[in-house]
Amino acid sequence: MLDSMRSQLTLWYTGVLALVLIIFAVATYTYLGRAARQRTDQSLADTASSLVSNLNAESNDEELSGDDAAVEITRGFNFNDRQAIVFDEGGRVVAVSTAPVSRIGKSGWPSATELAPNFVPLIGSSKSAGRAYTTIHDRGEDIRALAMPVRVGDKSYTVVIAQSLHEEYEALAQVRRAFLIAIPIALGLACLGGYFLARKSLAPVVEMGDRAARIGASNLNERLPVSNKRNEVGRLAQIFNELLTRLDVSFEQQRRFMADASHELRTPVAIVCGESEVALSQAVRSTDEYRESLAIMHDEGRRLTRIVEDLFMLARADAGQFQMESSTFYVDETVGECVRAVRSLAAQHGLELRYQHAEEELIFRGDEGLIRRMVLNLLDNAIKYTPAGGRIRVEIGRAGSNYRIAVTDSGAGIPAEAQAHIFERFYRVDKARSRNGDRAGSGAGLGLSIAAWIAETHNGEVGLEASDAKGSTFVVVLPAASGIRPD
Ligand code: ADP
Repeated sequence: MLDSMRSQLTLWYTGVLALVLIIFAVATYTYLGRAARQRTDQSLADTASSLVSNLNAESNDEELSGDDAAVEITRGFNFNDRQAIVFDEGGRVVAVSTAPVSRIGKSGWPSATELAPNFVPLIGSSKSAGRAYTTIHDRGEDIRALAMPVRVGDKSYTVVIAQSLHEEYEALAQVRRAFLIAIPIALGLACLGGYFLARKSLAPVVEMGDRAARIGASNLNERLPVSNKRNEVGRLAQIFNELLTRLDVSFEQQRRFMADASHELRTPVAIVCGESEVALSQAVRSTDEYRESLAIMHDEGRRLTRIVEDLFMLARADAGQFQMESSTFYVDETVGECVRAVRSLAAQHGLELRYQHAEEELIFRGDEGLIRRMVLNLLDNAIKYTPAGGRIRVEIGRAGSNYRIAVTDSGAGIPAEAQAHIFERFYRVDKARSRNGDRAGSGAGLGLSIAAWIAETHNGEVGLEASDAKGSTFVVVLPAASGIRPD
């Protein structure tokens, strides 16, 4: 429960808020405490000042002695929260007002004689500083006192005003109580609010998680709900959906590849089995019949080998595991060797084969075996799909910063609607036609896809430049490697 992101967010949120509230409460409480103390001190100072001026006035107007004037003014001192005590120079209590009404402690306000010894240091410091404050602790209560010296006639007195801090403390206690009640309530509400907020904002994530958990290889076409494309969660869902689309496409490709591959392998295997069963069905057959069956099985065996090799190459290419054997070579020489290799095959098919190359030597860096394979695939096709008496022309030369290899034949061409598909795996324009004739030579529709992959791995491309009833031209473009000498 606490591991859930909702709870963790809520805890963080509440924790931070608690810290802020506590800092705020402590700061406010300290400020209020100081302000209350300043108010008390100011009020004591005002009372003391008015008492001092009253004392002077009384002694002057009524021509009373200092002691009598002090008795007179303390008699008229009617505050129910503070007491005035007048000390003479010797620290003796000359006059004292009535005790404050406000209850303090259990045993009431202490008498002046009880309080007097506490004020001795206060009176001393007031004489030098003009006034002095102190807080004394008596009978479990705090009393704030101010001492102010005064001169009446030729005698010095000190007026002390003492006030219980009970009310000040009571006010602060109320503030404390308010905080103690308000802060937990605020935190509780914030915790609830935070939890609902976290729940609401994480709801799309939970939904995405539930939906994603249900997506597997069989339903890769399903997508996650995108609540709002512009927020983080929506963007995450979109990115995930794009990933699913890529996976779906690649799964579909793999599925098609597997289905097509097994389909292509099934036919030659069926032919081999069928031929061997026919050959074995009779106890004795003529040598010619055996030779014929063996020749058919041999052709299918070659065809199978070629398909398996092509599939293996494409599978390794798809997995990015094909080990390129890079070297620097003259690509015009390699193409020339390919032409020489198929010359007798072309002659067997009654085809004229011409090779035209540039004057300069064309240095290239890449996998020579793969380049040879690519050119041979194009030449194989040209021979396969050109009827006897036709012509095949191979040209190589420089085209700007590239090398251009063109294989042109005078075959029947490729129908316009099929041209866009011939580089797809297992695609054959006319499956029946490919299967007939030279069975061992006819491929599984992988020759051009392999050629395209080879060109791409060399940063080049292969394409069908032109194809009509007079023939087809396939063109390979490879980036020229300048300044590289052959190994
Ligand atoms: P295949 O192994 O069947 O030759 P490819 O991938 O090499 O497969 O070629 C795909 C299809 O493109 C062929 O089945 C064929 O129909 C068509 N094609 C390729 N080259 C030529 C060409 N030179 N002339 C006519 N059709 C061609």
